[in-house]
Amino acid sequence: EIVDFNQFLNRIIDRFEMTHKDDVEFVRNIPDTPIFTEIAMDKMGQVLDNVISNAIKYSSRDHKKVEFHVKQNRLYNRMTVQIKDNGLGIPASKVERIFERFYRVDKGRARKMGGTGLGLAISKEIVEAHDGRIWANSVENHGTTIFINLPCETLEEDDWDV
Ligand code: ATP
Ligand code: MG
Repeated sequence: EIVDFNQFLNRIIDRFEMTHKDDVEFVRNIPDTPIFTEIAMDKMGQVLDNVISNAIKYSSRDHKKVEFHVKQNRLYNRMTVQIKDNGLGIPASKVERIFERFYRVDKGRARKMGGTGLGLAISKEIVEAHDGRIWANSVENHGTTIFINLPCETLEEDDWDV
């Protein structure tokens, strides 16, 4: 279905905010104007749930911070959402591998935290099924940013002027 990605994302963040009021600061850099995307909301919701859960889970800080940036590239009808944390980060040599099935950076730590190591592999499949791309930037001990680039529609008043 066609949805306003910004509203969709805001609602997901609202949910996380309710359960992490005391330990996580959420910073929203999300435009007020809608960005229309054609997405399966349940699937894309699963992607964002996993990425945001990871951002909170892989951090040992007292003051956790998760920042969201949404940007539209009107020229190419694409949009990018960045989800940035201030957590443990990932060593440079391993960051490429986090989208592989069952891959976990720190096996011992990961086992204690639960989960399967499938979250990002599934997220990648879902994003690519939407003609999108997902990738990561990370600095060990500083934090990780996940980028998701998706097609979007540019419905502008100008379109009616032909
Ligand atoms: P699941 O999502 O299935 O519950 P998981 O979180 O371990 O388990 P993924 O979401 O696929 O699996 O992540 C794979 C691995 O990538 C994680 O185990 C962790 O080592 C690393 N990772 C993912 N996101 C982050 C992040 N934001 N900061 C640091 N490490 C991360
Ligand atoms: Mg996960």
